[in-house]
Amino acid sequence: MKYLDEFSDPVLARRLLDQIHAATTKPWAMMEVCGGQTHSIIRHGIDQLLPEGIELIHGPGCPVCVTPLETIDKALAIAAQPGVIFCSFGDMLRVPGSGRDLFTVKSAGADVRVVYSPLDALELARQHPDREVVFFGIGFETTAPANAMTVHQARRLGIRNFSLLVSHVLVPPAIAAIMESPSCRVQAFLAAGHVCSVMGTAQYPALAAKYRVPIVVTGFEPLDILEGIRQTVVQLEAGRHEVTNAYPRVVPAEGNVPARAMLEDVFEVADRTWRGIGTIPASGWRLSARYREFDAEERFAVGEIRTDESPLCRAGEVLQGHIKPHECAAFGKECTPRNPLGATMVSAEGACAAYYAYRRLDLVEVGT
Ligand code: SF4
Repeated sequence: MKYLDEFSDPVLARRLLDQIHAATTKPWAMMEVCGGQTHSIIRHGIDQLLPEGIELIHGPGCPVCVTPLETIDKALAIAAQPGVIFCSFGDMLRVPGSGRDLFTVKSAGADVRVVYSPLDALELARQHPDREVVFFGIGFETTAPANAMTVHQARRLGIRNFSLLVSHVLVPPAIAAIMESPSCRVQAFLAAGHVCSVMGTAQYPALAAKYRVPIVVTGFEPLDILEGIRQTVVQLEAGRHEVTNAYPRVVPAEGNVPARAMLEDVFEVADRTWRGIGTIPASGWRLSARYREFDAEERFAVGEIRTDESPLCRAGEVLQGHIKPHECAAFGKECTPRNPLGATMVSAEGACAAYYAYRRLDLVEVGT
């Protein structure tokens, strides 16, 4: 398949691996920010092909994983209300709140629908003016433009029975929070290419300079990831800490200018809670004052829900790279994709789910 197969070419992959091996003289720990990258790394066994000292730490860039439990509970509370049509992407329906998930609420009679775009939810609102239609808008800078556009359209078209439950988070503040952690082992970042395709790269040089870490914008196919690792190793070995772009076919330095303008109009920066990590200042978006009337939390008065995680779950440590998934005692035992205790096992992009899907259960069985 064009644009996919050519970035999985085994001959070119071998050549990049040879270059990485040749360039590596010391152990290095680098974090791939995005869960999609984690999934690709584990699926293709890339971490097992690298020089022994190169460690890939799996970062917090899985939107489902970092959506706080209380936000899931708010979604459940809103969805259960009479007259509401609650819309979400399919991957959020299985994410357990403190007691149940959206599938359970749906089976109890709530009108919960899977949509493929927030604009589908807006169309539902137009078709059902007597109902309240809510879209669950989660994710990083990548998914935010479509949600921003939808709210903008709702306001422009005068569709007042639509609202957005917002849980958007931002990558650069998370990188800063990871580097500020006293137990941080990260020496470099493979930045999330799709985030940069929207936001550009202008936010990263200051982070690279402040924390003295290379930041390499990296894609998702095997060759993209290997090239990102290669550029990172070259910088680390040379003692440099610059921002480079290993994904230029998708990421222009300025990002997507119209999308950024839409985001600036509809959202404003706010503190956000990250599941398993806690509150990171100025690390997310909420609807700006011009669009606040479309905020589902305010419309349904669910702002004060507080919930606790399973005491067995160490997803926060996984998301910050302090442990690998198989080092959690519940991995593959109490916690499996059929019975997930934490969001990193629910989402296909979650590190725990990736380890479970691609052979890493063996690590538990042989006791390593
Ligand atoms: S294996 Fe399950 S319980 Fe352990 S950290 Fe991952 S999601 Fe949480």
